[in-house]
Amino acid sequence: MKTPPACDSAVSTPGLKTNLLGLGEQKLIDFFENLGERKFRAAQIMKWVHVRGVTDFAQMTDLSKSLRERLASIAEVRPPEVVSRSDSEDGTIKWLIRTDGGSCIEAVFIPENGRGTLCVSSQIGCSLDCSFCATGKQGFNRDLNTAEIIGQVWIALRELTLPEAAPNNRAVTNVVLMGMGEPLLNFDNVVEAVNLMMHDCAYGLSKRRVTLSTAGVVPALDKLGDVTDVSLAISLHAPNDELRDQLVPLNRKYPIAALLDSARRYLQKLPDQRRKITIEYTLIDQVNDRQVHARQLAELLGNTPCKINLIPFNPFPGSNYRRVSNNAMYRFRDILHEAGYTATVRTTRGSDIAAACGQLAGEVNDRTRRSQRYRNEKVNNWQPVNIISG
Ligand code: SAH
Repeated sequence: MKTPPACDSAVSTPGLKTNLLGLGEQKLIDFFENLGERKFRAAQIMKWVHVRGVTDFAQMTDLSKSLRERLASIAEVRPPEVVSRSDSEDGTIKWLIRTDGGSCIEAVFIPENGRGTLCVSSQIGCSLDCSFCATGKQGFNRDLNTAEIIGQVWIALRELTLPEAAPNNRAVTNVVLMGMGEPLLNFDNVVEAVNLMMHDCAYGLSKRRVTLSTAGVVPALDKLGDVTDVSLAISLHAPNDELRDQLVPLNRKYPIAALLDSARRYLQKLPDQRRKITIEYTLIDQVNDRQVHARQLAELLGNTPCKINLIPFNPFPGSNYRRVSNNAMYRFRDILHEAGYTATVRTTRGSDIAAACGQLAGEVNDRTRRSQRYRNEKVNNWQPVNIISG
C-alpha cells in the first residue's frame, strides 16, 4: 500500500473554456450547431474523448485543421487532477482526485473475478449525515459537475490501461454511484454522467452495469425514470421507520413506505419488466442485525422486486459502531433466503487503504461546519442508537 500525500487545498482556476468532457450528446450537438458545424461532430468528439482518452484537439485527425484550431481556442477537454493513488493488497485501487476549488474526492476500483467495478463520487462530501458513514462526517462542499463525475471513469480507464498499470488485464465493466455524496441531490449532472457511461460513443456500459445508489430523495427518484434507465440501489439499512430515522436522517422527510413506492414506480417505467432493485443494508453490530430485523425486512419487501445486498459495517476513525459478527450476518442472510429472497454479502475490499464502503472521506473544504462539530461531539456526547432486541 502506498500512502497518499495530503491533498493541499490550493485553489485551481476553473477553465474559462467549455469543458467538452462534461457535455452529453445533446449538449455537444448544440455546441457544434452553435459553431455552424454538423451534428455528427458530437459523436466524433465523444469517441476521441471517452473511448480514446485524447484531450489534445490537435490529435483529433478526423476533424479539419481549422476546426481543431477553433476548438483549441474556445474549448478544452479537462479531467480533474489525480493527487494520489493507493493500491490495496487485495487489488483495490483508490484515487484521490482534486476538483476546482481545491477539495478532493475519491474514486475506487474493485477488481473481482472477471469484472471490475468502479465506485464514483457524485458530490464533494455529503449533506445527509447518515450516522454510520464517514463521508457525512466530513460535511458538504458542493455538487460535482458532469466533467468531474465522468472524469472519474475517464481517469480510471486511463490508469488501468497504462502499460505499467496492471499485472492482469483490468477493465471497468461496472460503475456504481456509491462513492461520496447523494447522487439524487445532484440530479442533472448525475443523469448527464450516467447517460454518458451508457452511451455507445462513450463508455458503452449496459444499463444493468451502471447503478445509482440513493438514500431516498423521493421527488428526484420520481423523475429519474423519465430521463434514464440506469439500475437502482436503495440504501435502506433498517426495516422500520423508527430505526431508519436514526441511521438515515433523510428518512424523517421521506419515510420507508414512500421510498419503496417510488422505487417500484421507477421499475414500472422501465421497458424491461424483469429488472430488480438492489436493497443495500449495512449490518451494524447490535443495531440493525437482529433476527427480528431480518424478519421485518422480509415482510417489508414482499411486493418489491429486489435482491438484497448485505454490507458489513466498515469502521472509520471516530465511529462508535462495530462491525456485525459473522454469526449474526449469516443468520440474517439465511432468514432472508428462507423467505425466498436473493441475498448476498458484500465482501469488504480495500479496507487497508480506507477504500471500503463508507470509508471515503476525501479532503472536503466543509461549508457546513459539520466536520468540526463531529470532532467535538464524538469526544463527549456519544449516544448509541436504540437497540431493538430480537
Ligand atoms: N448517498 C448514496 C450513495 C453513497 S453511500 C446512498 O446512500 O446510497 C453508498 C453505500 O455505502 C450505502 O449504501 C451504504 O450502505 C454504504 N456505507 C456507508 N457507510 C458505510 C460503512 N461505514 N460501512 C459499510 N457500508 C457503508
